[in-house]
Amino acid sequence: MTQAPYVVPMEGERALSTDLKITRDGVSCTDPVWDALNRDPEGALWEAWTGLPSGKPVYAAELHPERQLIAMESLLCAGCKQEADRNELGMLWVLPVLDHAEDTVWEGVRTVTPPMCEACASEAKLRCPRLREGWVELRVREAELVGVRGTLHPRPGSNADPDPDALVLYDSADLPFVVARGLVRELANVTLVAAGATVS
Ligand SMILES: [Zn+2]
Repeated sequence: MTQAPYVVPMEGERALSTDLKITRDGVSCTDPVWDALNRDPEGALWEAWTGLPSGKPVYAAELHPERQLIAMESLLCAGCKQEADRNELGMLWVLPVLDHAEDTVWEGVRTVTPPMCEACASEAKLRCPRLREGWVELRVREAELVGVRGTLHPRPGSNADPDPDALVLYDSADLPFVVARGLVRELANVTLVAAGATVS
């Protein structure tokens, strides 16, 4: 692959640390202008990133929030930002098995991974570290946006620690307390097309 995958963060890019305040109404940026810039239409606050890509892709647990949002919202390929592939069974998704239990029922699975085109799916299966230990290729007829993944902050007065990787649905009372890093779609009418692993 000559090009880095679109949604993967690059060296030089990083989360911007912003001053947050947490009230009974939820989490917000102390700077109201910045807060407004980083809110999505559902009311969730998003983590802002800064920096220019200056090196190699960084295959950490996270995708680049802004690019993940663009790809997932518009169903663009996670690898190249072109339209994701569709056939009579639906749209193409390649997901790591790692994120899910071995006996996962893929119907109804919720994911932050955007769909892919055929070419990027083939590349990703060979090269993406997250798929190395197991992947599934799915065709999906419905993929409703259901919420976000991100850091869920405890309510004021609670001694709990923030949950750094919470799934928060749009209809949840937790939505005002999350700082989102990824849009989540729920995959339905799913056909399992293939499964495999790059390394044994
Ligand atoms: Zn692609």
